[in-house]
Amino acid sequence: MGPVLNGLMKLQSVENRLRAVKAKLARCRRNVIIQENQVRSLQNALEAKKEEVQLTKVQSDRLELELKTKDGAIARLRASLNTAKTNKEYAAVLTMLNTTKADNSKIETQILELLRDIEADEAESEKIQNQIDEQKQTLEQTRKEAETLAIKYQAEIEEIQAEWDQVARTIPDEPLQVFKRVAETYDGEALAVIDRQEGKTEGYTCGGCFMGIIAEAVNLLMTKDDIIRCPNCTRILVLGTEKGYLIPDA
Ligand SMILES: [Zn+2]
Repeated sequence: MGPVLNGLMKLQSVENRLRAVKAKLARCRRNVIIQENQVRSLQNALEAKKEEVQLTKVQSDRLELELKTKDGAIARLRASLNTAKTNKEYAAVLTMLNTTKADNSKIETQILELLRDIEADEAESEKIQNQIDEQKQTLEQTRKEAETLAIKYQAEIEEIQAEWDQVARTIPDEPLQVFKRVAETYDGEALAVIDRQEGKTEGYTCGGCFMGIIAEAVNLLMTKDDIIRCPNCTRILVLGTEKGYLIPDA
């Protein structure tokens, strides 16, 4: 390895720091979005509850009206009971009166049930409203913290980016382009250190994908400054810092 590969190793360490801070920035922004969504879903739930209350009220109003009409009918039937001329007529009116009264009592029960539903839904709405208020406060807090953090992270990113650019200028264009491409594929991980396998069958593996690497590649890296990529994952292969540790046996 020589200046090119050493430069890439330096670039990789800067790239790692850059990605780490960018990830932190993304995370703190994501937290705000998550909480915004929570507020929105609570607001939707509140809207739905209020709509439900509205519909129930319409229903109970309708029943109230029906009850009033039937009350009028009952009053009229009572009057006809007093003016009935025959027993038969009296019995007929009485039956009708009783039926209407029974209907009314059913409607009253229904209205009571609806009123209870309204009460429960209104209590539920209040609870949701409280949750919204609380969640909004948390959101504001998170937003403020995120804004402060974002400024800090942006400054860090700019600083590290400048460092990245500086290191990149020391690397020839072709290897730099390869580095960028592989970094995009592997979330910033463009280089892979070759690991030496201990045991009965000694050999070398790519530290990125753990596939075997031929000893010739290791020899080349020891003697030259060429870009050698893992045939499996295409990462740029480099030797570990303890160079002696990697000397091939053959
Ligand atoms: Zn590999």
